[in-house]
Amino acid sequence: RASSELKSERTVVRALDLVIGGTRVAVIAGPCSVESEEQIVGLARQLKELGATGLRGGAFKPRTSPYSFQGHKEDGLKMLATARQETGLAIVTEVMAPEHVPLVAKYADVLQIGARNMQNYQLLQAVGDSGKPTMLKRGMSATIEEFLLAAEYILDRGNPHVMLCERGIRTYEEHTRFTLPLATVPYLQEKSHLPVVVDPSHGTGKARLVTPMCKAAIAAGADALIVEVHDDPEHAVSDGSQTITPTSFGQMMAMCRRVAEAV
Ligand code: PEP
Ligand code: MN
Repeated sequence: RASSELKSERTVVRALDLVIGGTRVAVIAGPCSVESEEQIVGLARQLKELGATGLRGGAFKPRTSPYSFQGHKEDGLKMLATARQETGLAIVTEVMAPEHVPLVAKYADVLQIGARNMQNYQLLQAVGDSGKPTMLKRGMSATIEEFLLAAEYILDRGNPHVMLCERGIRTYEEHTRFTLPLATVPYLQEKSHLPVVVDPSHGTGKARLVTPMCKAAIAAGADALIVEVHDDPEHAVSDGSQTITPTSFGQMMAMCRRVAEAV
């Protein structure tokens, strides 16, 4: 179960040097989409140097429009595996369909379930059966109750390595792409033993809001951050407007260290 009433010790999810739910705030960073081997390996080296322990990047992309880039699929997974080989960063990447779980699990260290699939119960069960560390993103219109029950679909299959990711919800507000409710962090930590990750990139949709919300997420007690970073966000194939550069990422990390020390 996900409830903290039924399990008193907190869950810690581990994949290589990525430890989520431990004493330190973990940072997963990388582009929205894996674009090329040079891109992902180059970024991975910089991100590792700047303190990330996880590398994100989509190979299977759930795009709003069917005409948008859908990801490099298995070729993208291979590029991620090369980046891991070069840097030791743990690979976090999305799996979109139950039948793809074995393939993605072969290359990834952490399986990501995207917001659009939070209630794809067959996918949750397949990921549960894989036993792989899993990051479950909150559906954009899901309540906390629904979010925790979705996590239980994975736990119920005997996979305890689950982390929850608040990535913003849909509201009437339009100044940001989604609305990022940070009260979710302490609330989920009270209700559940599962660690909580915050995604300020999707949560705001705006690059300039990412660093302030990273600081706020840490102040609120987040166990980890997941941040979109690209060498040239303007030309990123997806989510460029919410993506920061490696330089900004380095500045963000420095500020976040100070916040983490203060809380
Ligand atoms: C992503 O991480 O690039 C992504 C598609 O996220 P979400 O499922 O939260 O929209
Ligand atoms: Mn994205």
